[in-house]
Amino acid sequence: MSETRSDVDIQTDSACPQGEGQNSRIVLAVDDDPFCLRLLERHLQDDGYTVVTASDGKEALRILLHQGLQLVVTDGMMPEMGGLDLCRALRAHEGVGLVFIIVLTANTNEDYLVEAFQAGADDYVTKPFKKRELLARLRAGQRLLDLQRELDKRTMEVHRMNAELAVANKKFATLATTDELTGLVNRRDAMERLNGYWASAKRYGDPLSCIILDIDHFKKFNDTYGHAVGDSVLRETAHTLQASVRRGEIVCRVGGEEFLVICPKATVEAARKAAERLRRTVAARVIADGQNELSITISLGLAGACDGITSPDQLLKAADDALYAAKAAGRNCVRAAHDSTEAPAASAIPS
Ligand code: GH3
Ligand code: MG
Ligand code: MG
Repeated sequence: MSETRSDVDIQTDSACPQGEGQNSRIVLAVDDDPFCLRLLERHLQDDGYTVVTASDGKEALRILLHQGLQLVVTDGMMPEMGGLDLCRALRAHEGVGLVFIIVLTANTNEDYLVEAFQAGADDYVTKPFKKRELLARLRAGQRLLDLQRELDKRTMEVHRMNAELAVANKKFATLATTDELTGLVNRRDAMERLNGYWASAKRYGDPLSCIILDIDHFKKFNDTYGHAVGDSVLRETAHTLQASVRRGEIVCRVGGEEFLVICPKATVEAARKAAERLRRTVAARVIADGQNELSITISLGLAGACDGITSPDQLLKAADDALYAAKAAGRNCVRAAHDSTEAPAASAIPS
């Protein structure tokens, strides 16, 4: 029994959008001759195809654009819009996916056939057509559609995997540059950033300073309250430092209870003010862990790029020495690298 149009409408529109399975078993048969059309329809149905019919190119185009069918057998010569014009219109229409078109033609003239392929036909069958040949050529078309569908599926899979990979890579990149406990920039990334700021300061003749700070008597917190409380003291301190620095200053965790603050474009005096601000803020903060109220202090050493300092490592070493001086001076204080030598700090890296 022949399918009605509305039966097929329901199947194709709701259940079988192009590229999802069943469309390669649905054929749009187009012919202006009712007898030929009925014959074509019957042959196709005999072979298990669902057939949608149209009596000219215009009607066929409407159906194709609406239903997204992928197999077309069309007469070449028709009033209104012939098979070749249908091919042209379809191929010119953006958004129409792969459609396999077989043109039925009594005209086997070479020029006509070349024109048919140029118009976008995929194959042709001469009229009066032989059933077996037509079905064999349709199956070739079906194979192509199935392959294309498989390719689309794999391409989508590759896109999906690429997207997952991008997310994973981003996660790894974050993990590689972030300190797990505090969420601050970790030591490795801190060194890279410092090198970057050093190079840029050297290129533009800008000042550059850094502060190394260390929590005073931190071991006591661990010993008295346990490692977990020690961890939350570290997290709270990191948070306080992060919230207290100015824009452009970068807080990093570079050791157990040791932090680095990179101060791009900051002179030693500007860095000293920043360090003093951090010291005061941390000392004023009370950390409550539910049972205890803890206060901590930090000691800070700072250094600015100047004549005697020729590399980021030397800058760090100078700041570290200043930190030891701060510890030696009784803790909870700020020392700069040149404080002991009295040498004036130059404000920029000599290039
Ligand atoms: P100072 O004032 O001289 O800096 O004394 P301090 O006790 O702070 O320094 P010390 O180097 O003696 O001890 C640091 C302690 O920090 C020892 C170590 O167990 C602890 N620590 C290092 N990393 C972590 C961490 O991730 N979590 C916790 N809870 N403790 C840590
Ligand atoms: Mg310490
Ligand atoms: Mg320490």
